[in-house]
Amino acid sequence: MDRTHRQQQRRASGRIDQDIAEVLIDEDAIARRVQELADTIARDYAHDEGSRLVIVPVLTGAFMFLADIVRDLPHKIRIEVVTVSSYPGAATVSKGAALVGVLPKALEGRDVLILDDILDSGQTLGLLQDEIQNRRPRSVRTCVFLRKQCPRTREVTCDYVGFDIPDAFVVGYGLDFDGFYRNLPYVGVLRREGIAP
Ligand code: 5GP
Ligand code: MG
Repeated sequence: MDRTHRQQQRRASGRIDQDIAEVLIDEDAIARRVQELADTIARDYAHDEGSRLVIVPVLTGAFMFLADIVRDLPHKIRIEVVTVSSYPGAATVSKGAALVGVLPKALEGRDVLILDDILDSGQTLGLLQDEIQNRRPRSVRTCVFLRKQCPRTREVTCDYVGFDIPDAFVVGYGLDFDGFYRNLPYVGVLRREGIAP
């Protein structure tokens, strides 16, 4: 059974799809854009002869973006995950960012590319940029799948951006609400009744 057919079937029997009010970015658009981003990144790091590129994805939200984008990168890369907590449980407003556990050790002299699911207040990426800079890498860049059009409590530069989106709480393609909806293959907005008061 091909992918499209499988998707149609899944939707027809869909449980989580029923909680989605609107699809903001569909699977095909995501696939195209992720490929473009990978092409750009591949070009920018084409000089990386010494396998110095380390991708640092922010878990859990970046897992799907990570899996898709690294398959399109031709480099011999390392992947070192970090966990940052910012939206505990069913909260939909940022409560500040905190590193969970420790940073990977081997970042000195490397080209670090931080990968996150979404830029919202800027606290997560800001914190990680600071912490990673302290490890004296050769370079640090950031790549976010989504960038929300909203005021930032911390201004951070993103070198690579998948999509700019309006200031709404979104789920899918790795992004959760209270731990759910990460497995949606597209980005959508929840129905109001899906969000706890
Ligand atoms: P920031 O620290 O920039 O405020 O927030 C970044 C983190 O907050 C993201 O990595 C993500 O985990 C979470 N986040 C921000 N906006 C959204 C959103 O619209 N939906 C979901 N599911 N998570 C979000
Ligand atoms: Mg996150």
